[in-house]
Amino acid sequence: MTAQTADKSVFSRRESEVRSYCRAFDTVFVKASGSIMTDSEGREYIDFLAGCSSLNYGHNDPDMKAALVEHIMADGVTHGLDMYTDAKAAFLDTFERLILKPRGMDHKIMMTGPTGTNAVEAAMKLARKVTGRETIVAFTNGFHGMTMGALAATGNAGKRAGGGMALHGVVRMPYEGALPGVDSLAMIEAMLDNPSSGIDAPAAFLIEPVQGEGGLNAASAEFLQGLSRLAKKHGALLIADDIQAGIGRTGTFFSFEEMGVVPDLIPLAKSLSGMGLPFAALLLRPELDIWKPAEHNGTFRGNQHAFVTARVALEKFWQDDSLSRDVVAKGVRLRARLRSIAGLLGLDEAALRGRGMMQGVNVGSGELAGEICAECFRNGLIIETSGAHDEVVKILAPLTTPDALMNKGLDILTAAVKTCAAAHAPKPSIAAE
Ligand SMILES: *Cc1c(COP(=O)(O)O)cnc(C)c1O
Repeated sequence: MTAQTADKSVFSRRESEVRSYCRAFDTVFVKASGSIMTDSEGREYIDFLAGCSSLNYGHNDPDMKAALVEHIMADGVTHGLDMYTDAKAAFLDTFERLILKPRGMDHKIMMTGPTGTNAVEAAMKLARKVTGRETIVAFTNGFHGMTMGALAATGNAGKRAGGGMALHGVVRMPYEGALPGVDSLAMIEAMLDNPSSGIDAPAAFLIEPVQGEGGLNAASAEFLQGLSRLAKKHGALLIADDIQAGIGRTGTFFSFEEMGVVPDLIPLAKSLSGMGLPFAALLLRPELDIWKPAEHNGTFRGNQHAFVTARVALEKFWQDDSLSRDVVAKGVRLRARLRSIAGLLGLDEAALRGRGMMQGVNVGSGELAGEICAECFRNGLIIETSGAHDEVVKILAPLTTPDALMNKGLDILTAAVKTCAAAHAPKPSIAAE
């Protein structure tokens, strides 16, 4: 089949109904490079979704691609369970040298199964094993993955229902700002301090420093520091799920870096491989490394190809702070553009969400946000929603997106907002006539 004759009927005929993104972006993609995806008709789309932040360095980075091709052509190991390989050694050395040491972090790296949810499972299991407690405190609107442990910590009702059984071992607390007029931290502290609150002593707090799926709510330094303090006070661990917000997305390698906290456990996935290859890991403080060999096993722990591309990504983008500074500057410009987009809808600063290159606008309803994203797609922009009601239009462009392309994408978004807002404008009422 040539690209020109790509036929979509096989998907509805043979692919499970569970498929999702393809329904919103209903075309057959055949190529991807940088921040552009191309479909079988030769149509180009600017990618403001970036594999939900799995492609922070864009599609098919030439240096990662070249290193991977070289590795494959030289018969480098493709699959080696978790055996020692040169590719794993080089990745670990580089991660230690460029990421951990400069940040004063002493964490060890546990290779988990290749999806984010498996790294979260490992974190939850280890927190329970270390503390001998069951309860994990997770937060409203949190998203941590689809396997049963991580699903228990995920807020979304539809996703939870998919589990088909009771989801155990997690209590929910309000994220910062989740309840109008309520100081979440004070409430959590009061609940934990009260021996009759009904909340068992927790094994861990599991939090996304910026909630990726739950509406781009960004926790403040004070909130994260408060949680860290509560964790210490109650003998619990702090787990920062940096799967979506990490790897440079907010402007620093870890999203919590400038927040004055050092989490005990840090699940990473999505952009860790640098090239969109499946790769997840759990960073753990060395004193917590009480695993017995093979206690959290898995056939695909440590993707050799991902070790190669992840190492290149670290060498290319994290030798100095130029990417970080660029992301911060891009984030400021993005904020300004989103502020004027919010203005078109009569919304103020309160509608702006997220930070760095992980920002969006709460347009007020999932219906309007969905229409805006659909209109964007018709005009060549891939963009998605986030939030409890899918009410936030979310920009997750590759961090490497050139400014001109970023502006072009934001122009498409601006035009879509104008078009959709006009369609949604209240009809003149009879009384006004
Ligand atoms: C995507 C995501 C996960 C789950 O990762 P998968 O690779 O989809 O299993 C967990 N936590 C956060 C914050 C995520 O964004």
